[in-house]
Amino acid sequence: MNYYQLQSILRHIRKTVSCPSCGGNYQFSDLEIVNVAGGRVTLAVSCKGCSSKTLVVVSEPATRKPRKIKKEKEGKTRITPDEVLEMRDFLGNFKGEMRDIFKK
Ligand SMILES: [Zn+2]
Repeated sequence: MNYYQLQSILRHIRKTVSCPSCGGNYQFSDLEIVNVAGGRVTLAVSCKGCSSKTLVVVSEPATRKPRKIKKEKEGKTRITPDEVLEMRDFLGNFKGEMRDIFKK
């Protein structure tokens, strides 16, 4: 999994996951990366509506064009701890709209 696949996962969760308690939608600032291991991402998701916390585990990258993940070379495309921290900072500081992140 690489940085862009992680971004894609976060976008996918933001679009498709809603709060199991109140049904509210999540913002990027509600997502916190707990762990990235292999092809699995664990996120802690906080609901601003009802203050409930939920763990979300994603085991496959939510990319538009699935790649052959198993053939990735070790060490080259894996997320580094620095990239996880970078994404955490990014999510923590982000205050705009979702489309602002991903526009090219
Ligand atoms: Zn809620």
